[in-house]
Order: sequence, then C-alpha cells, then structure tokens
Amino acid sequence: MSSNKDYYEILGVEHDADARTIKRAFLKKARELHPDVNKAPDAEARFKEVNEAYTILSDETKRANYDRYGTPDGPSGFGSDYVDMSDIFNGFGMDDIFSSFFGGQGRGGQARREQRSRGRDMGITLHITLEEAAKGCTKTISYERLAPCDDCNGTGAAEGGKTTTCPKCHGTGHVTTVQRTILGQMQSTTVCPECGGTGQVIDHPCETCSGQGRTPSHESVKIEIPAGIHAGQTVTIKDKGEAGLRGAPGGNLVVSIDIEDNERFQRQGDDLYCTEDVDAISAMLGCTMEIGGILPDEKVEVEVPSGCQYGQQIRIPRCGMPRQGSQARGSLVVVVRVTVPDDLTEDDEEALRGILERRQAKSAKADAKERAHESHKAKEGHRKHPFGRR
Ligand SMILES: [Zn+2]
Ligand SMILES: [Zn+2]
Repeated sequence: MSSNKDYYEILGVEHDADARTIKRAFLKKARELHPDVNKAPDAEARFKEVNEAYTILSDETKRANYDRYGTPDGPSGFGSDYVDMSDIFNGFGMDDIFSSFFGGQGRGGQARREQRSRGRDMGITLHITLEEAAKGCTKTISYERLAPCDDCNGTGAAEGGKTTTCPKCHGTGHVTTVQRTILGQMQSTTVCPECGGTGQVIDHPCETCSGQGRTPSHESVKIEIPAGIHAGQTVTIKDKGEAGLRGAPGGNLVVSIDIEDNERFQRQGDDLYCTEDVDAISAMLGCTMEIGGILPDEKVEVEVPSGCQYGQQIRIPRCGMPRQGSQARGSLVVVVRVTVPDDLTEDDEEALRGILERRQAKSAKADAKERAHESHKAKEGHRKHPFGRR
C-alpha cells in the first residue's frame, strides 16, 4: 500500500473524524463508485482507493500508525498478537462482501439473486507457532465482514420506519408469471424484485445500510487459543461471521488452526521429539544435561545413561505438549546423536590410547578363549553327529 496518499481526503472527512463518520463517508463513496453501479472508466480505480482508505482508517492500530508515521505498518510492523486477515479469506474477499451488500448483483449486471437472509459462516486459517500452541495464546484478528448496521441496530429501518409484508409477493418472496408462447402457457417462478426474496419491505429504510441492516465493516476480534491445540482444529466465534439480513441470525467466524513447523521439536500427538548432540565420551560414561523445553524458559534435565547409543531415545514424561483441557502433558523424547570430539589434547589421546591397548589385550585373550571353546565344541559335535549336519 502506498503511504503518500491522504486517506482522509480520499474519504472526504476531517482528521479527527470518529469511527462512525468514517464509516458513513466510506459507504456513501463506495455506493457511488462500486463497479457494479458506476460504469465510469475510472470508477474501479477510485473504488479501490476508497476501500484502501477505509481499511486503514477503520482499523485503530493502522490509523494510529498512519497518523504518526505516515504508514499503516508503523515503525516495526504490528505486535505479535495482531493478525491482519484481509488477504487470506477463503473466498471472502472484499469484493464478495460488497456484492452481498449491493443486493447480490453480479458483475455482469444480472438480475438480483435471491438474498440469503441468514448470514454465512466465514472461514479463516490462523497460523501459530508450536510454542504458542503449547502455552496457549490470545490473538487479535483483523478482518472484513458484513456487520450489523450501527445506525439501525441491524433492523434496516430508519427511525420511525416500519417493516411490513411485501405487497407484491404477499410475504412469499417469490412471484409467479405466466407467459403465452407458441408452446402454450409457460409458468415461471422468480425471486420477488420488490423485496429481493425476503418477503418483507421497509417503508423508510435506513440510509446507511440501504435497508439491509448490515454494512461492510472492518472488525477486530480477540480469539483465545487453548494450550495444547492441534493443527486442523477449529475455534468458532459465534455471530462474528456475516451478519444476517435485517436482523436475521448471523453466521459464525470459524478459525482453523495451522501450526508452523518448529526448528527443534517435532510433534506426534502430545509427544515432542528433539535431537540432541551428546559427545562420545559422555555417551559412554553417562551424563546429565539440561535442555530448553517447549514452554517459555522451561529447562528439562535429561539423564543420559552410560553406554548410550547413537539414535537411542530417552523419554522424559510430562515435558511434552500440554494435553488440551487438562493439567497433563505428553512426553519429551530426546533422540541422542553421538558426536566424536575432535579437540583432544595430547594427554587425552595418551589416556585413550592406554584404554585402547588394555581393551585390545583383553579382547585378544577373550578371542583365544573363544577359539579354544569353539574347536572343543566342534570335536564334540563330530562325535555326536558322525555324518555331519548337512
Ligand atoms: Zn442501517
Ligand atoms: Zn416481495
């Protein structure tokens, strides 16, 4: 987004305008400039500019940054708990929201589609880190939706306006027309053009929302992610999806959780796996080491047993991922990677050579004993099986 534009000027509001004034100014301009309505060649470009101005000025954080630094991103971007969802809606771009708002008119200027009165559910994917999944977190999600209109409390009626049964369709939402054709009478049922299929009309519709009871809106919601959540799980925030038409029930915001790969830990269920280097001498003798856990500042003591092999797994109970909704935790499994020290001193080498020589002498003795035993067994075997085994 370019930052050298005057967003206040684009919307035609004062610099100290409140949120409601900004929204009203935006809706007025959007209604004039929406490409479904305005066929001027520059309408689409101007509409985009108005939309951009609104996206920034309707978001407290972005507006404050823009006022202070001239850019919505601020000096160092947003805080880590702030997630801007304007780009990653699953098929719910601003365009879709506007098309719903402008009565479901298609881009080609087709006839009105039937309006759903119930608001749709909206789905988004939220990416979190494994550390956040382990300790739980609160995220503020910033997104666009059709929200209940502030000016009419979602009823769609202006002050003193009343909702009545549509006189054209008598509340059914459909009209039946009969046409004479060369094939005889053709009867067809279409959505009532008067009420858009809702069966109700308002004598004085609210100006802000054109009687819909909902307006395109920039929203921020806080979402609590419970500790121990798994990838693919969803968190539902009631009534934060698309608002219903004229006070009809709204949809929900369904947030599905994606957990980013972690550099150190691999998760399997509630267990965590990590690989740790242990130098060969410590692995031979056994040792205790301290490693960082998944929770903030967590230290985990790992007992490496003597004679520990490369790839050996050391399981530490209750140091894995928290189990959702309980105090329990999975295990931390440390996979040992034995490393060979390459910084031995002369003394070290001498000591090791001493060990090596002792072991070689010991193993030569053991080999001799073994050979003697084998040949003895072979003779015994011959005696027992004079014809051999094969
Ligand atoms: Zn309204
Ligand atoms: Zn009607």
